[in-house]
Amino acid sequence: MSEAWILFLGTAAGTPSKKRGLPSILLQYRGKYILLDIGEGSQRSLIKNGIGVNRIDHILISHLHGDHIFGLPGIIQTMSMEGRERKLSIISPEGIEKILNAASQITSYQLEFPIEIIKPEGEISLEQYISVYPFKTCHTNIESFGYIIKAFGTGKEKKERFSLAYTGDTAPCEELIEKIKGADVLIHDSTFDSSMVEKAIAFGHSTSSIAAKVAKMAGVKSLILFHISNRYNDKSEMILDNALKIFKNTFLAEDGMKFYI
Ligand SMILES: [Zn+2]
Ligand SMILES: [Zn+2]
Repeated sequence: MSEAWILFLGTAAGTPSKKRGLPSILLQYRGKYILLDIGEGSQRSLIKNGIGVNRIDHILISHLHGDHIFGLPGIIQTMSMEGRERKLSIISPEGIEKILNAASQITSYQLEFPIEIIKPEGEISLEQYISVYPFKTCHTNIESFGYIIKAFGTGKEKKERFSLAYTGDTAPCEELIEKIKGADVLIHDSTFDSSMVEKAIAFGHSTSSIAAKVAKMAGVKSLILFHISNRYNDKSEMILDNALKIFKNTFLAEDGMKFYI
């Protein structure tokens, strides 16, 4: 097992397609598994990629739009049915507890393990070698967050091994650039192509060119375009080409794509 990798479980925006599932990203570092968002179908995608759902220790939710969270009640039920006893931690904007309580009451399943819900603020130490720093993003009127995940080495001095920045859904916003400065990998909202910049901003999203400009301004090492509208299913190179003109080290996320850090 490589020390660190990212696996894209779902890379679509809003609605799924044959090609792309709803947003969810898995980060593995030193045998710890962290999910970034959990769209509907994420647990199936984990299983298809040979990863049991009970390997997940932490789930980071960017915001409570359905495309980013409808996989959560399902995965929790599977974890319970598989006899999980270990705690699951969820970092999420306010409201997730209500959704989980309603799902378990109405569908009458018994939660067999503890869930800790953590507010996205300050520095959150997830594991001995992994810390998370949430930051606000500029999406719609819903509260939305991005996350910087920092992974550290095992030495006494706790040297930073890499940092990963995930924006969730966002329109361009200055505060965000400050927060993600110098990240090794940036996973950025890239819902539309550059000809649709007005629509993107009106809906609280970004184009791939915006994502590339942000990557350049923030001085990140690699950019991965994520949250791709279904309208580009047959022409997703267009999204990538727009960004490559501005930022060379850009990749387009595809379902099942693994990125080694
Ligand atoms: Zn979304
Ligand atoms: Zn959204």
